[in-house]
Amino acid sequence: MSIRLNDMKGFAFDLDGTIWSGEALLPGAIELVAALRNAGRKVVFVSNNSRKPSTELSKKLTQMGIPTEPSEVVAAVEIAGEAVHRELGPVNVLVLGTTELHRVLERAGHRVLAMEEWEHSQAVVVGVDPEFNYASLKYAASAVHQGAKLFAVNLDARFPVGPNRYEPGCGALAEAVAVAGGSRPIGIGKPGHPLFEMALMRLQCQPAEAVMVGDSASADIAGAAAVRMRTAWIQNNAEPNVLISPDWSAPDPARLLELWQTDLFQG
Ligand SMILES: [Mg+2]
Repeated sequence: MSIRLNDMKGFAFDLDGTIWSGEALLPGAIELVAALRNAGRKVVFVSNNSRKPSTELSKKLTQMGIPTEPSEVVAAVEIAGEAVHRELGPVNVLVLGTTELHRVLERAGHRVLAMEEWEHSQAVVVGVDPEFNYASLKYAASAVHQGAKLFAVNLDARFPVGPNRYEPGCGALAEAVAVAGGSRPIGIGKPGHPLFEMALMRLQCQPAEAVMVGDSASADIAGAAAVRMRTAWIQNNAEPNVLISPDWSAPDPARLLELWQTDLFQG
């Protein structure tokens, strides 16, 4: 391989399925991040999470043994307001999601409507919504059918909550609204560009100097390759229909650490 892991200046890590699975860290996660930081490499964490802001995610990382500042985490939920703004300007929005998602949209200058006011919406934004039900699907789909633009914080079908345990993701809810409303959703998180671009800004790296480390072939690896970042695939999430050619691959962070160390001690 002509490119070396050691030549990389910045590392962007996915969280679910790459650093942790639910409440359990994956083997080698602490050691890998520490080794990269000790070698002077920049590290950020890039999450499609549609419920938790970077402050909460950095707290969880720190508690689990990976000391992290909020500025080292980029969460899809936090760029939702900005993404809608870029497409439509400040608009009336119908939101299926947590109060955090409501707040993010309001901070970006949008007006969040009550569900019954769906007729006045120009955008529908879908996150993981624990209150999702038939009524919210009906209102959101009616708004989309009437011309409101449909956004999803991410298009993930499911997210891991423990070993072999998953909950329905934002993409599953967005898909229900899309089918009933008759319009495809715009994805804000990975594999969309905005989240990767924000990560590169935080890393202060050119795409070719930065590695995206992630377990999702479609969201992390294909998405990062599309913005010309280097890629390291944590192969614990098989997607047989997605063809990718990652620069590095490993079954877990411990093995990726070995690749980093071997590369380091070569010659
Ligand atoms: Mg993942």
